[in-house]
Amino acid sequence: MSSDLTDAIDAATASRLRMVLHQLCEDSSEAKNLVTKALLLPSAESNLSALGDTTSRKRKRYEVCKNCNKEYEVERNNHGNCVYHPGEKIVDYESSMWDDHDDKTHGAPEMHEDDPDFQDGFNWSCCEGEIASKGCETTKHEPKVSGSRSKKRGS
Ligand SMILES: [Zn+2]
Ligand SMILES: [Zn+2]
Repeated sequence: MSSDLTDAIDAATASRLRMVLHQLCEDSSEAKNLVTKALLLPSAESNLSALGDTTSRKRKRYEVCKNCNKEYEVERNNHGNCVYHPGEKIVDYESSMWDDHDDKTHGAPEMHEDDPDFQDGFNWSCCEGEIASKGCETTKHEPKVSGSRSKKRGS
């Protein structure tokens, strides 16, 4: 692969890459096979059929973890791989972040919970650590499941 192409791939946004992949799969069955191999586990390895699941739906090779929001390889998911904060972001009013923050112009601090520019103004409720700090809970990754209802963590 030319280094120009490598650079272009590195520079592209995730959504751009996703579009390119979709297009590739549409344009070329060969590409589709390669992408299938890269992203899905062969159904033979899946033992879902033993559980009465007769649809030969392929398992995803990669999932996004609902704890840490990172993508992980399903086959290599061990205890200790997932380090995250189970708590919520709470406003750290002591932070200098809010010194010249005007709620009227900028909105209440709570509104900026997911704004990357404001992460210094928050702490985790679980351990009061900084948002960028290493997680205080260590476990294995769990897939984001849509459909099946996972029980809510009691707080
Ligand atoms: Zn924590
Ligand atoms: Zn995780």
